[in-house]
Amino acid sequence: MPDKNADKHAAIVVGDGPAGLTAAISLAVSGVNTTLIGLQPAVPDNRTTALLAGSVAALDTLGVWQLCAGNAAPLRTMRIVDDTGRLWRAPEVNFTAEEIGLEAFGHNIENRHLTEALRQRACSLPALSIIEDEVVAVLPQAENVVVSLKCGTSLHGQIIIGADGRRSLCRSAADITIDERRYPQAAMTLCLSHSRPHHDISTEFHTPSGPFTLVPLPGNRSSVVWVLGSGMAEELAELDNLALADEIEKASHSILGKLKVESARGMFLLHAATARHFADRRIALVGEAAHVLPPIGAQGLNLGLRDAATIAELIVAAQRDRRDPGGADVMSRYDRMRRADIGSRTIAVDLLNRSLLSDLLPVQGARGLGLYLLDRMGPLRRAVMREGVAPAAGQPRLMRGEAL
Ligand SMILES: Cc1cc2nc3c(=O)[nH]c(=O)nc-3n(C[C@H](O)[C@H](O)[C@H](O)COP(=O)(O)OP(=O)(O)OC[C@H]3O[C@@H](n4cnc5c(N)ncnc54)[C@H](O)[C@@H]3O)c2cc1C
Repeated sequence: MPDKNADKHAAIVVGDGPAGLTAAISLAVSGVNTTLIGLQPAVPDNRTTALLAGSVAALDTLGVWQLCAGNAAPLRTMRIVDDTGRLWRAPEVNFTAEEIGLEAFGHNIENRHLTEALRQRACSLPALSIIEDEVVAVLPQAENVVVSLKCGTSLHGQIIIGADGRRSLCRSAADITIDERRYPQAAMTLCLSHSRPHHDISTEFHTPSGPFTLVPLPGNRSSVVWVLGSGMAEELAELDNLALADEIEKASHSILGKLKVESARGMFLLHAATARHFADRRIALVGEAAHVLPPIGAQGLNLGLRDAATIAELIVAAQRDRRDPGGADVMSRYDRMRRADIGSRTIAVDLLNRSLLSDLLPVQGARGLGLYLLDRMGPLRRAVMREGVAPAAGQPRLMRGEAL
C-alpha cells in the first residue's frame, strides 16, 4: 500500500560513497531535486584511487576536482614489469600519456581527500538535500518507490539510484541477482614515503601471485596495492612496519630507494560480482552495487563514476522532455548503455589475473606475447592506451567535460 504521509522527491540516491555522491552532485548541479541518504561506514577508507582522465574531467566539470586537485599526483607513465620469473617472460612495457596526446593518464588520490571534496561540493548545492540515516526498506511501486529510513520517516522517489555498495539493499529490492566469482588472493593496501622520486611513473610488477603495484602520490610518496596468495597475505599482515617496508623494497627491486610505511593498512579478499541487470523497477544501480572488480588495473571506481554520469544524463534529459525519469525507457537505456563497458572491463581484469595465476605454459606464453606485441607495435599500444582511458563503448557527456 502506498504511504500517504511519505514525502515526494524526483530522485533519491541511496549510499554516500564516491559513486553515490557523484550521482547526486551530477543531478543537483543540473537542477534535479535530489535527496542523498547515506550512512558513513564505521571504518575509515585508507585506500587510494587512480582516477583516469575521463573521471578527472567529470569531477572538474562538476566543480569537485578544484577542491582536491592539490592532493592528487599525475600518472604520466605506466610501466609493466614481468616479475614472474617464468620461462615465457615478457619485456618491460612503458605506456606514456604523451604518446596519445595527453598530459597524464589520470591522477592518484587518497580516497579520504576525494570523498571530502565530494561532500563539500554536495553540501553547497541548493537542489540537494542530504540525510544521514540508514535505509531499512525500499519498495518499488507502479508510479514511484517508497524508501523507509531507520528513524521512521518514509520518502517517495520517482527514481532511486542504488549506490549502496556490494551488499546493496536497492539491488535486492529491484529483484536483481548477481554473478559472483571469488579468487584465491587478497590485496594489501598502504601508503609509504620513499627516498627516490617516482617521476610520475606507476609501476605494476606482474608476479605469480598477482600484480604488485606502486602508484605515485604527491611528493616522494606512493600507494601500494599488493595482490597476494592467501598464505603470503597472512604472513605479511603479521609484520611490523619496518619489516614490511623491507619486504616491499625487495618486491619493488628498490626502484624507489628506502621505504617508510606510513599509514594504516588494508586487506581485501579478491572478489568479482556483476549484476544481471543494471536497472529495473525504477531502481538504477551504480558503483559496487552494480559491479565489484578485483583491484587490478584501476577500473572499479572509474566504472562507478561512468555509471553515475550516465544515469544522471538520462534523468536530466527525461526531466527536460517532461518524461518519467524512472520510466521503462530510462531503465532499459541505462542497462543497455552500461553493459559493454562493465562487461569488457570485468573480462579483461579476470583474464589478466588468471593468466598470472596459471601454471599452463600456453597461457603464460599468450600473456608474454601480448605484452611483447604491445611493446613493439606502436598503433596497437596507442589503441590499448586510448581504450584504457576512454572506452570505445561511449563516454558519458561529463567524462568529455560537457555539462548535462
Ligand atoms: C584495494 C582496492 C583498491 C582499489 N583501487 C581502485 C583504483 O585505483 N581505481 C578505481 O577506479 N577503483 C579502485 N577500487 C575500487 C573502488 O574502491 C570502489 O569501486 C569504490 O570504493 C566503490 O564506491 P561505491 O560508492 O560504489 O561504494 P562504497 O564506497 O561501498 O559506498 C557505499 C555507501 O553506501 C552506504 N550504505 C550502504 N547501505 C546503506 C543503507 N542501507 N542505507 C544508507 N547507506 C548505506 C555505505 O555506508 C557506504 O557509505 C579499489 C578497490 C580496492 C578494494
